[in-house]
Amino acid sequence: MTIVGTVQGVGMRPFVFRTARGLGLTGTVRNAAGEVHVEVQGSAQQIEEFVAELREDAPPGARIEELTLASIRPVAAERRFEMLPSIANGVKRSAIPPDLATCADCCAEIARSSTSRRAAYAFTSCSHCGPRYSIATSLPYDRAATTMREFDMCESCYSEYSDPADRRFHAQPIACPRCGPELALLDGSGEIIEPGESAISSTAKAIVSGSTVAMKGVGGFQLLVDATNTIAVARLRELKRRPDKPFAVMMADADAVRTCCDVSDEELCILTSPAAPIVLLRCRSSTCIAPNVAPANPWLGVMVPYSPLHRLLLDECRRPLVCTSGNLSDEPICVDNERALASLGPIADLFLVHNRAIARPLDDSVVRRASHGIEIIRRARGYAPSPVKITSDSPITLALGAHQKNTVGLAIGDEAILSQHIGDLNCAAARSVHRRMIDELLRFHDAAPELLVCDLHPGYASTADAEDLAARLAIPLIRVQHHHAHIAASLAEHRVDGPALGFAWDGTGYGTDGTIWGGEALSVDGGKFTRIAHLRTFPLIGGEAAIRDPRRAAVGLMLEAGSNDLEPIASRWFTPRELPIFREMAERGFNSPRTSSIGRLFDAIAAIIGICERPTFDGQAAMQLEWTLDAAADRAGAYPMPLMNAQPIAIFEWVPLLSSLLADLRERTPAALMSARFHNALVEAAFATAERVGIENVAIGGGCFQNSYLSRRLQTRLRNAGFRLYRPCQVPANDGGIALGQIAVARSLSEEQRNVPWNSR
Ligand code: ZN
Ligand code: ZN
Ligand code: FE
Repeated sequence: MTIVGTVQGVGMRPFVFRTARGLGLTGTVRNAAGEVHVEVQGSAQQIEEFVAELREDAPPGARIEELTLASIRPVAAERRFEMLPSIANGVKRSAIPPDLATCADCCAEIARSSTSRRAAYAFTSCSHCGPRYSIATSLPYDRAATTMREFDMCESCYSEYSDPADRRFHAQPIACPRCGPELALLDGSGEIIEPGESAISSTAKAIVSGSTVAMKGVGGFQLLVDATNTIAVARLRELKRRPDKPFAVMMADADAVRTCCDVSDEELCILTSPAAPIVLLRCRSSTCIAPNVAPANPWLGVMVPYSPLHRLLLDECRRPLVCTSGNLSDEPICVDNERALASLGPIADLFLVHNRAIARPLDDSVVRRASHGIEIIRRARGYAPSPVKITSDSPITLALGAHQKNTVGLAIGDEAILSQHIGDLNCAAARSVHRRMIDELLRFHDAAPELLVCDLHPGYASTADAEDLAARLAIPLIRVQHHHAHIAASLAEHRVDGPALGFAWDGTGYGTDGTIWGGEALSVDGGKFTRIAHLRTFPLIGGEAAIRDPRRAAVGLMLEAGSNDLEPIASRWFTPRELPIFREMAERGFNSPRTSSIGRLFDAIAAIIGICERPTFDGQAAMQLEWTLDAAADRAGAYPMPLMNAQPIAIFEWVPLLSSLLADLRERTPAALMSARFHNALVEAAFATAERVGIENVAIGGGCFQNSYLSRRLQTRLRNAGFRLYRPCQVPANDGGIALGQIAVARSLSEEQRNVPWNSR
């Protein structure tokens, strides 16, 4: 019998072992290249029961995808069921499990009141919980292939580890206070202030009195402050140079979450699942959470303690804690003590560290509950590197993603293994993590890629890396258009083949004509796509500067429309000398690339309404526009945005939309109403396109669809008219999903097409 899925490092072998012995079966179990192989001998009825129990009672972190049975010849003289050592060979299928939140048994054991030798021990885990991907250094997943190899098990741990009846049987991160990792509280210069277990209470005291602590967590350092202390939060914002971007909060348990947020049973389930992500929840109007934790934001990112260290600390603090990635603005999260001291020194007062190494940076994942289940916004700890099932048996494909919020992906057979969220490839540190994740994917899975994929953008760091790698490996390099990849990602996740209409709406992406796309309607069929409509283009005055400054997008939009309102509105932003310069730049196209980006349209509209003129984080203007919506949005009507026939590609004409919006603005219409009419205009434009094109399968992708009103309303509108809408859930709608889309596109090309340059395909 072969068991495939997330089966290694989750207690599958011990579970098989106990089940088999419990039923009196004889035989063997072993890990082999990411699968679990079982041989059993017994009566037909015993074996039937055995298979049923395996399916029904599998450990919480396990995911059985296939259980294949084959009859073998009986062997004589076997008396017991045995566990055999792992074998490593062949192409390894996805096998490293994601990190698993502390299970209930371990939680009970670490309680300070417990009499266990692991009471208050911050590195307690068992075969059903604890660190996995964050400590794995190679495959197969065994103690020697983790950062725990530095620690020799004590006798007591070893006997639990070797006892099939123990829940720590073959738990690779097994440890106890005698033999495992240790804590230490350091000051900013790296001096030990408090060693060992009591470091936790000293840390709690410091946090409660307003200090900022950098704590080495599961996937990297986190910055912690008291979430009820406005001054402490303000200080963290100032030192981290993060004026507005919301912080996530860790709360002790479900009851604590209920007092601060409106939370459904499904949301509680996600919060307390083995992945234990940050879940975006609707914030209650009056809570103990300081208002500057998530300023002007109806959502609060909430998580519950997912490691013993977090749990013990929360128990001592007895209040919610701001828990944010320990990094400098766009850099990857710090994983080692020295780097954390160096780069977080100016931010944190104290450092709570330990001596278990983190194998790679893993941010906390961010998800939201959606009508169709879960919607992943950032895929990292707890989800990566679980594979995404896709169709096909095509070549081994490596995809390097795009640039922002990047991930890389490797497809072997019908599985795509996607790296955790790496981040924007702007800095050297992120680029080096990006390269490391590529190396690791190939090394862990012992894979020789036959096909390499990257974005069409000639200037991305990922493109340059892909060109080097393709030359080095002498394999074809496929360049996939960004928005094509967005749509392909949505379809791949739902395993939909064949023609579909796709709406890819985001901030930016390199088009086949060399311009900046981002408001695209594409007809997609596997490796091919046709651009059938796009947003009417407008100039981005100052190029990059306009991406960071919605006021410039607004000026570009109003100049393009020849609007009389330009001067009265823009005079509050720019001096009388600047406007004529902008006008000339736009007219001559000087440093003012034209774009069809809906992300930039959101920016411009937010600035014109006056909701967000100077954002301090990516996507802020669009988010604030969404947050002004109220319950009446569905009935607010829509601004006109006709789909105009133009040659060769139809356009979404936003000039009438802008005129109506400016008229509303002159009449001092409430912002909520204007925002609703704008959102509804986008939905109606997409709907009209779908009706005209008439393809039943419609897919959406791109960062704009993380706007939950936009995706929900479009979904309702299309489904009511008989269309099928596919939207990203397992991978982010933003550029975190691009690698998956690239894989899907590259694999659906024929062998001849793969060897032809993209522009002649
Ligand atoms: Zn456990
Ligand atoms: Zn021990
Ligand atoms: Fe994108």
